[in-house]
Amino acid sequence: MGTDQVNALQAIGVPVQTINSSTPLAERRLIMTDMLSGHPRTRLLYVTPELCQTDSFRRNLSIVHRQGQLTRIAIDEAHCISEWGHDFRPAYQELSWFRKNLDDPPVAITALTATATPRVRSDIITILGLNFAKLKLFNTPSARPNIHYEVRYLPNYDEDDDISPEDVRVQDLLAWLKAIKSRQEARIGAHAAAQRPPMSGIIYVGLRATSEDLASRLDSDETISAVAYHAGLNPQDRTRIQAMWTSAQPYQQGSNGKPPPTFSIIVATNAFGMGIDNSQVRFVVHWTPPRSFEGFVQESGRAGRDGKAAASLVYYNTQERDRIADRLGRDAENVRNRGGPKAFVAGLLKNQMARRESYQKVVRYCETVTKCRHALIKDLFGDYELEEMGSQQPQSAYGVVKPDPLNPSASPCDYACDFCKEGPSGLAKRRGRMDAADALYGFMMEQMNYEYS
Ligand SMILES: [Zn+2]
Repeated sequence: MGTDQVNALQAIGVPVQTINSSTPLAERRLIMTDMLSGHPRTRLLYVTPELCQTDSFRRNLSIVHRQGQLTRIAIDEAHCISEWGHDFRPAYQELSWFRKNLDDPPVAITALTATATPRVRSDIITILGLNFAKLKLFNTPSARPNIHYEVRYLPNYDEDDDISPEDVRVQDLLAWLKAIKSRQEARIGAHAAAQRPPMSGIIYVGLRATSEDLASRLDSDETISAVAYHAGLNPQDRTRIQAMWTSAQPYQQGSNGKPPPTFSIIVATNAFGMGIDNSQVRFVVHWTPPRSFEGFVQESGRAGRDGKAAASLVYYNTQERDRIADRLGRDAENVRNRGGPKAFVAGLLKNQMARRESYQKVVRYCETVTKCRHALIKDLFGDYELEEMGSQQPQSAYGVVKPDPLNPSASPCDYACDFCKEGPSGLAKRRGRMDAADALYGFMMEQMNYEYS
């Protein structure tokens, strides 16, 4: 993750170094010698929270601080510090050492995260020992005005069905893409549309195998270039795909003798994320319900960073919903059965509970058919509370949709969601394609409460 950022910064001439588990000892020594020289050439050093736990690194950092060479500590993915965060890592909590020990003069601390709910934000502030009076808080809204949010409800799979659930989704997605292509051609003409660079999209899947299978299926379509991306790729493939993806016009020639594609799609597990910049992603699809609401907000938010219209789709049915709920239940069971210090296990269990709560929000997001999705995301994420805590909204790059004073009943999102487009009855009818949704939903919630009581 950090490696992508380090490479990108080095490429534009920023004197940046990194020490991580794969840094050779000799290189480590060179970097530390430079850091301790009193006038280091390195201006930015990337390290892991695990390294910050070691006595030798802490000792060295204190020396750099005493030499007046440490101006700021930035903690990326700061939500990992909180047991209520969806990616809790115990080593992050030890970062409280910075505030306690680098206090004369106090070193500036910046904490960054794309997924801090109000509870997680409070935890970050408390655990790092940040001074509320001196603190500056910034946040951008969780739901973005230029993204059209939509849930695609799927029928549950029955063994008698002659079409697999995967096929249903593939057909639905192809139809959706085809409609986009037709609309574009109607708007600007077929010839002009063919000259355009392909539209980029990301499909998030749960498993590596799914990402491989789906990518090759989609790639066989004439209008689509698709590649799989997951943590199991070798570094060369990873680099190649990243380079292709971040360049402005991927696949100009079309691969395998195909004509230039209309769509360039990455089918990714959630290993695909930070440090890979493409501001022109037009759609993000969740092939199955996301496992956490924060993850959903972050991943769907990779669409439309250029401020232009983009879309977020989630494929959903009650079978997939319950399958993920079961897996989260098993994870919690595994944590309970593992050994270790009581407080440590208690922390992990709290985190499992937070994961379940976060997943319940995903379920609420997907099953609610009575509210604008933009409003729903902001409610579930706690945007209002975050504003209450005091935040300066940076001038948004994504534009703001203002309510129309002459028409107060107009859509809160300017018709950028399925609820506002289809209305409650249209949406409820679509959701009705799933079987007995409410009964199962109630069952699952009961089961969750039982497991944590
Ligand atoms: Zn809406």
